[in-house]
Amino acid sequence: MTTPSLLILPGDGIGPEVMAEVRKVIDWYGAKRGLAFDVTEDLVGGAAYDAHGVPLTDETMAKAQEVDAVLLGAVGGPQYDTLDFSVKPERGLLRLRKEMDLYANLRPAQCFDALADFSSLKRDVVAGLDIMIVRELTSGIYFGEPRGIIREGNERVGINTQRYTESQIARIARSAFELARKRNNKVCSMEKANVMESGILWRDVVTEIHDAEYPDVALSHMYADAGGMQLCRWPKQFDVIVTDNLFGDLLSDVAAMLTGSLGMLPSASLGAPMENGRPKAMYEPVHGSAPDIAGQGKANPIACILSFAMALRYSFDEGAEADRLEGAIETVLASGLRTADLMGPDGGTPASTTEMGDAVLAALNASL
Ligand code: NAD
Repeated sequence: MTTPSLLILPGDGIGPEVMAEVRKVIDWYGAKRGLAFDVTEDLVGGAAYDAHGVPLTDETMAKAQEVDAVLLGAVGGPQYDTLDFSVKPERGLLRLRKEMDLYANLRPAQCFDALADFSSLKRDVVAGLDIMIVRELTSGIYFGEPRGIIREGNERVGINTQRYTESQIARIARSAFELARKRNNKVCSMEKANVMESGILWRDVVTEIHDAEYPDVALSHMYADAGGMQLCRWPKQFDVIVTDNLFGDLLSDVAAMLTGSLGMLPSASLGAPMENGRPKAMYEPVHGSAPDIAGQGKANPIACILSFAMALRYSFDEGAEADRLEGAIETVLASGLRTADLMGPDGGTPASTTEMGDAVLAALNASL
């Protein structure tokens, strides 16, 4: 079997700081679990612009297409705000998503017990929560034609078009069912089939794919507005939620905020399966480059470490090792160690980025 390959793109601001902690975790898996990765590191965003005059070189793009998974830190910073739109750091990230055709955006909402009091909801509603929103990312109303603002008589009309083909729905449905098989085998599909034809087609196609290819997965349907309500009322009823681009945009933000700090939120974007059966994949924390704390050792590395845990589970079929890593993080948080973003005003001395990373390694060692 060939060694799985990873392209690491730390990026800007706190990106390199949090990625340094992930590198320690990756090295630990090579040394202690016999799970070696062929790791290449490269530049993206402002760092690539500074070195090459573009936020992503063609060579880096080609590498991203070849590897089993890309791990990205964050891009951006105030020093790049005045650059031409075409070379802004964010264009590097968008190019990766577009050219790899990453149509499935995975946003987990996972609440570590030790942080349950951080949520705006009651502890028993969120403690132990572990759900996954799968949002269709490259079609739907954000891309449909016709679009624009036109004049009709003496007033302006704003137009956007919700448009989904059967194949676009089928591929995101397959992504959700595949994920459910690696989790608790339950998918809830959300749309507005009561008022939208695209919702009727969505429900039909998801059901067809389920019945023909994934009858072992429990499938339910819910109107997206009721889904938002249920996410706040009793989110633990869900495992995987699959939904379109617009509803997914809203529902994934609702679900993410059930769990507390931005420094804790990982994400993945997946595309079509490659020849080796693994999906094209990029894993990254939800947060940005946090210029306000960059270079100060204050960043919480957990979102980025959890993004690697997602890679273990969804790209490398190492679910038990992903559980081990998440368990190590749970142990560290339960011990009371906190980076500054996870502390209240009277919380004491926060841990630094490296202290948090070292504590995760110690907990990994203790798990053996
Ligand atoms: P941000 O996520 O960088 O920061 C928002 C707030 O959260 C800041 O106060 C920051 O200190 C804090 N924060 C974020 N991550 C943290 C962590 N790991 N640990 C502790 N605190 C953390 O969002 P922003 O300030 O709106 O944007 C800053 C830059 O990042 C901008 O250039 C923006 O374009 C870029 N950005 C990039 C991405 C990405 O790379 N995917 C995403 C969002 C924003």
